[in-house]
Amino acid sequence: MRDTRLPAKRGACALVLCAALAAPAGASAQSSGGAGGGSMYVATPKVSKVTCLRKCASKHRARGGSVLKIVGTELAGVNQLTYLGSHGSGDDVTVKVRAGSGTRLQARVPLGAVTGPIALATAAGGRSAPSKAVLILPPLPPEPNPDLSPVPGPRVSGAPQLETGTSRTKAFVDARPGVTFSFRLSGTSAAALKVELVSALDGSVVKTWTPVDVPPDQVQSISWNGRIGRAAAKPGRYAFRLTAASADGYEARSAQAGDVQRDAFDLYDHIFPVRGRHDFGSAGAQFGAGRAGHSHQGQDVMAPCGTRMVAARGGRVKFKQYHAAAGHYIVIDGDGTDVDYVYMHLDQPSPFSEGDRVYTGQTIGAVGDSGNARGCHLHFELWGAPGWYDGGQPFDPLPSLQAWDSWS
Ligand SMILES: [Zn+2]
Repeated sequence: MRDTRLPAKRGACALVLCAALAAPAGASAQSSGGAGGGSMYVATPKVSKVTCLRKCASKHRARGGSVLKIVGTELAGVNQLTYLGSHGSGDDVTVKVRAGSGTRLQARVPLGAVTGPIALATAAGGRSAPSKAVLILPPLPPEPNPDLSPVPGPRVSGAPQLETGTSRTKAFVDARPGVTFSFRLSGTSAAALKVELVSALDGSVVKTWTPVDVPPDQVQSISWNGRIGRAAAKPGRYAFRLTAASADGYEARSAQAGDVQRDAFDLYDHIFPVRGRHDFGSAGAQFGAGRAGHSHQGQDVMAPCGTRMVAARGGRVKFKQYHAAAGHYIVIDGDGTDVDYVYMHLDQPSPFSEGDRVYTGQTIGAVGDSGNARGCHLHFELWGAPGWYDGGQPFDPLPSLQAWDSWS
């Protein structure tokens, strides 16, 4: 019915937003006493071309810190740009921009923006349709410091001396183990201790721990699984920050504010499910390709038989069965997402059973050719809410797979 997900889904959203915004925009034009001339007209910006201008991987490949050049029409009033990323709004990142003219503007690519379309918005409520996908490479990883080492941050004399370490520079939402921050105080015990998780995107503190009764000279650890409460944290760079004060109020910090290297890591919301050499095959491997009596509902990922396969996103196993066409397959209801993840043609039944909890990156089987498959491959499907053969609809998983493949 539809051959690509993004235009259909995003287009529908954009229409809803435009309809909802038409009234408030008109109302504000009237109440602002003529600033808008009383006109109901809201200019709709349009993106026609996006290229990478500065600090690029190449002209057509940006990364965090790059500057994009955007060419289009009706850009004059644009004050906001959203990197839409892959499916869902969980990875959307919005930045403020200022157009240089009606036909071009420049925008910074923040750490945390991932491959996907971009969309523009004006102060008056005009919104562009999503652009074609902009390829954004993952940022260069932060400097690793997995072992405890003395911190670079400021310390007044009389404060505890700090050592910290962070287990990994790349982490995934809902993975086990998560990312572990370890620390040790020496010199004097701390009367007040605080560990903050800071988003490098805007410096905001997204989570705080306040360990109590921490004795000096002992290693303490805190682990994080990429969640804030029940919700998944936004993908992007984060850093742990330790602050320790002595009973007399002398304070030491693990890093300067704005340091995006020390105890830092990049959080991603999915991992690429095939853990070995692979490709996306020919046109027949794509979503929507013709099949006898139906169309292909997923994307095939070609890989040698036996290649390890992991859960792209953790969740609950909804189905684990054998089917004459699908072979050994497993369906995982993604935790904290509205998506079901479907993996087919496994070489053996997955070791997981229906109802089991699976974590992101956990091995769920191996690539095979069980069922009706020509050559070993993973047949992968993504289904929107309410889910797989539950009233949901499959959508093209290729843009998501390509994004996940770019960082994992
Ligand atoms: Zn297939």
